[in-house]
Amino acid sequence: MSDVEAQTAFCKIRWFETDGAPVCPHCGGLDAYLNPRPNGSTRYRCKACTKDFTVTSGTLFASHKRPLRDYLAAIAIFCNEVKGKSALALSRDLGLAYKSAFVLLHKLREAMAEELKGRVIGGEDKVAEVDGGYFGGYVKPANHVENRRDRRLWANQSGKRQVVVIVRERDGNSVPAVFRTEGAAQSWIKSRIAPGTVVNADEAGSWNDLHSKFEMKRINHQEAYSADGACTNMAEEYFSRLRRAEIGHHHHIAGTYLLRYAQEASWREDNRRVTNGEQVRTVAQLAMKRGPSVDFSGYWQRHVKSA
Ligand SMILES: [Zn+2]
Repeated sequence: MSDVEAQTAFCKIRWFETDGAPVCPHCGGLDAYLNPRPNGSTRYRCKACTKDFTVTSGTLFASHKRPLRDYLAAIAIFCNEVKGKSALALSRDLGLAYKSAFVLLHKLREAMAEELKGRVIGGEDKVAEVDGGYFGGYVKPANHVENRRDRRLWANQSGKRQVVVIVRERDGNSVPAVFRTEGAAQSWIKSRIAPGTVVNADEAGSWNDLHSKFEMKRINHQEAYSADGACTNMAEEYFSRLRRAEIGHHHHIAGTYLLRYAQEASWREDNRRVTNGEQVRTVAQLAMKRGPSVDFSGYWQRHVKSA
């Protein structure tokens, strides 16, 4: 794909209402003329407010340094890898520095997160599943038996362990969040599942509090995986995707960016039956819809804020 083709493709995604004709992000003006940068790259000037803008101004790809076709290629590669793409693999594929690939992939995760923002699942006659999975904070066992400590005790843990909690509508969409404990997730869960939903959860005491708001079905995994219609298989499918991503590609998904990996896995689960071409379009649209990166606005590594 040439630079011109990539430019046209991005214009059509960003300004789909005008079939790719530029719309001023400053004043909404529809009348703009070409005012190329000295290096020849496409830039517009608005006739109404005389300000300059490009197709990526005010989007997730604002002040990008790579040619636009690299971003389209990255989105295509990212969507093609069902289990997720590692920054190292992407840097090899596109000839990018590792850090650039890392930042780019996290921007695409931010784009996916845009779709999950404020999402509430379930409703009357709908069924939802809730589950939690712990990530990070691995404490290496001591070599000699006499030095070993009980790693299950809170005092002997690294303090870095976090839990991803997923709420997932059966045959519907999902939304994840990250907490220190399952118990800390209760009010978030209540805000993300619509009243009237029947909620399925396992036997863990952390979920007992949900009985106050929802009709609950509990499954004891020590006895059966599905009994009396109660099961959390879809929530578990989500976690198996997230674990595969952890093992296969990223190795260390815990820490600052755990929420982003959790959101990526959620988006991929929800869109698993959507064609590849449609996924690429959607991610590109989300990236153009989302403002400049909150995780990486301008430079290297800031803190991730929840969606
Ligand atoms: Zn304007």
